[in-house]
Amino acid sequence: MVSGISTSFIVHNACLSRGHPETVLKDRRVRVPTVHEYMELIFLGTGGSWPTPQRNVSAFAIKRGSELLLFDCGEGTQRQFQRSNVSYMAISNIFLTHLHGDHILGLPGLLQTMNLNDREAPLTIHGPPGTKRYVSLIFTNPLPRPGFEVNVKEITDEHVTPFDGYRIVARQLDHTVTSFGYALIEDPRPGRFDKAKALDLGVPEGPLFGKLQKGQPVELDDGTTIDPQQVLGSPRRGRKIAYTGDCRPSEATVELAHNADVLIHEATFSDEHEDANRYGHSTASQAAFIAKKAHARTLYLTHISPRYANASPLEEEARTVFENAHIANDLDTLVVKFPPDEPATGDFAKTAQDAATAQ
Ligand SMILES: [Zn+2]
Ligand SMILES: [Zn+2]
Repeated sequence: MVSGISTSFIVHNACLSRGHPETVLKDRRVRVPTVHEYMELIFLGTGGSWPTPQRNVSAFAIKRGSELLLFDCGEGTQRQFQRSNVSYMAISNIFLTHLHGDHILGLPGLLQTMNLNDREAPLTIHGPPGTKRYVSLIFTNPLPRPGFEVNVKEITDEHVTPFDGYRIVARQLDHTVTSFGYALIEDPRPGRFDKAKALDLGVPEGPLFGKLQKGQPVELDDGTTIDPQQVLGSPRRGRKIAYTGDCRPSEATVELAHNADVLIHEATFSDEHEDANRYGHSTASQAAFIAKKAHARTLYLTHISPRYANASPLEEEARTVFENAHIANDLDTLVVKFPPDEPATGDFAKTAQDAATAQ
């Protein structure tokens, strides 16, 4: 029996050695209460091409607050969900990177199971051109249309999907078919609250502090208005997670991964496999070069070829280029805390609504 959170968490040594305790590898058996802005990454399937006893095919989920997003849905993904600490019934949006079988063949079964479990909430599936046709084929006899609403959105390069407090940005990457990588980018957070300054200005400790911290002006008893800018520091950047799907190295992947807290990059092969790029894939060291060039903080390698029963040589290969590199294994979960305070500049300065309006 698990005795407590402190004993059941494994602090990732590599993260600590880089001075980034914000990423913590969590024991998959432990449930952590959902709180607003809690973020957890769930590696459901980390193998490429076909399932093996060690690895299921591609599927990766992000739980942020109450929202659960699924990226890719390889065969057997619903069973991987059952082995994890999150429910497939909670998925609100599915993002498909591309229409190769090892990324999409789990969708028919997942949709049928949702239907058998009387799902009512709508589901939105995002993907490249061809996704609408694929989903319509799923609903051709003998699989009936489900009782819940399924929306399909075919996307183009740099498409922005806004959510409450963050956005998902798609980038077309270099593969053998049209393929998108996705980045989750959070809205800027308010700057740090200067309590001493607030007290100096005559704001009494209590609910008015909370309002100012949320960026709202407050009125004091003597009629003076205090603006949040008077007591808040500069806005701070939020978190960024990037997921590549299948790709050979390109500048678009570097842009997708720029300043990501966690980059999940495919590493189908080791450098010994000279044809990796010809097949539209990357080697472990190429993934590491992308992480380094993009100034990502942490790299997780996924989509490991079935030829590697032991993937540790790929991890070693990546670490010769980028120290904070790790092999992702099925059902690994990663809690992503906020990075150290950094001003919200560039892409981090935009809100989801601003970015969606500008596209
Ligand atoms: Zn694949
Ligand atoms: Zn592929």
